[in-house]
Amino acid sequence: MAAVPAPTRLFIGGEFVDAAEGATFAVRNPHDDGHLADVAEARAEDVDRAVAAARSAFPTWSTTAAAERGRLLLRLADAVEANAEELARLESTDTGHPIRDSSRLDVPRTAATFRYFGGMADKYEGTVVPVERGFLNYVLRQPVGVVGQIVPWNFPLMFCSWKLGPALAAGNTVVLKPAELTPLSSLRIAELIAEVGFPPGVVNVVPGFGHTAGAHLAAHPGVQKLSFTGSTEVGRRIVEASAGNLKRLQLELGGKGANIVFADADLDAAVNGSAFAIFHNQGQACIAGSRLLLERPVAAEFQERFVALARSIRLGDPLEVATEMGPLTSPEHRDRVLGYVKVAVDEGGEVLCGGRPPEDPALARGCYVEPTVVRADQRSRVNREEVFGPFVTVSTFSGEEEALQLANAVDYGLGGGLWTRDLARAHRVAGAIRSGMVWVNSYKRVGPGSPFGGVGDSGYGREMGFEAMHGYTDPKSVWVNVDADLPVWYPR
Ligand code: NAD
Repeated sequence: MAAVPAPTRLFIGGEFVDAAEGATFAVRNPHDDGHLADVAEARAEDVDRAVAAARSAFPTWSTTAAAERGRLLLRLADAVEANAEELARLESTDTGHPIRDSSRLDVPRTAATFRYFGGMADKYEGTVVPVERGFLNYVLRQPVGVVGQIVPWNFPLMFCSWKLGPALAAGNTVVLKPAELTPLSSLRIAELIAEVGFPPGVVNVVPGFGHTAGAHLAAHPGVQKLSFTGSTEVGRRIVEASAGNLKRLQLELGGKGANIVFADADLDAAVNGSAFAIFHNQGQACIAGSRLLLERPVAAEFQERFVALARSIRLGDPLEVATEMGPLTSPEHRDRVLGYVKVAVDEGGEVLCGGRPPEDPALARGCYVEPTVVRADQRSRVNREEVFGPFVTVSTFSGEEEALQLANAVDYGLGGGLWTRDLARAHRVAGAIRSGMVWVNSYKRVGPGSPFGGVGDSGYGREMGFEAMHGYTDPKSVWVNVDADLPVWYPR
């Protein structure tokens, strides 16, 4: 039973079905701990069924005209837009995203990504390689087969499009496992997938737990590629699980983004942009700018203005349009974030604001944490580990060299940002930050054509754009002898 308009059963072979063992798990509203739905829980047998469905759909789907695959993705984009309001509410209710973000960012970006890859399907070409005389050599880009996709709970709707878009455009069939905390929008997308006419088995959605459904999918011999977004710790387990059949992997893992403010920056823009960098989605973003590095001449002024802005952020019911920050997505995660406040203090840090749940009694049952700004030593855990909440550290530096040394002092390498009016420095520093993405005088921009992913402990492989298409296809090199007189053995 669901208190929200979303299916609650597994989507396998084009139908919504119960889990083989009949198990379900409860999904709760992070705003007030209300019960939202009991969702069927996929376990090993269900994952096997989903992989079998994807496998039997593959021969037809992979040879369906690319334009037809694209047409279905374009129809899915239209369906997302046609149901925009309902999807935004569903996402906000399940995750805690403020409705202004769900409706202005999550839903439009989801539609735009499906549309981008819908357009891509029949424009993604192989190549002809100039080789020795007498031969034609061309390279086909062929789908890899059945793809497993495992996603986290922070942007479930958007991740459906990031993962499904390129995989389907390239001709793969998919088994997608949403996170156990937020499966509802993925199941609603499954319903739209059926409605717009995707053949049964092309997409299968199996909500379930990581250590059961996720682990089984990651190790499955019938899966040729696994695309994983989640923590670095689980990412390492995915690497081990994939060894059996040498699955191709793409890993989008954690981050600890440096956000560098140089003394010549436009401070108004930097203060606002830095708040978006960390407090958007309550800081539950792998690319969050969670380490603010301030150049000494402006550090005091920036900090004062930034803390004032943080204190003024309106926390509240995600469904209220005035709300700027909602709850974290689960009580366990709220406690984990608050645990990092204690770590910071125990390690000698100073809490400049926040660091606790809000006092408003209307929010007492939700997973809320006030925007938190902490000054902490560089060696402190809060400056090295991903907190994944509305929690930012501030540090100071002098000059470009020290800024880069601090920015690059962590094992993660996903996103990073810098604020300056010096054009040459902007390019120099952007090139030198060790990360997969850098934003100059902005933060956290993403687009369906721009490669998304990281280096180091943030993983490897890329989502979005042509990089994603490369990742969901295997190149096949074909050599054709086009010269009848050309010897194929040594002349006799
Ligand atoms: P998580 O790693 O705990 O879980 C992610 C997914 O993996 C979930 O669906 C979970 O059920 C599944 N899972 C858990 N254990 C598994 C196992 N042993 N085998 C297979 N699957 C398993 O992460 P989370 O707490 O859901 O999400 C937060 C993390 O995700 C953060 O570290 C964040 O940085 C990261 N993240 C990264 C990106 C990116 O693009 N780089 C984007 C968003 C989130």
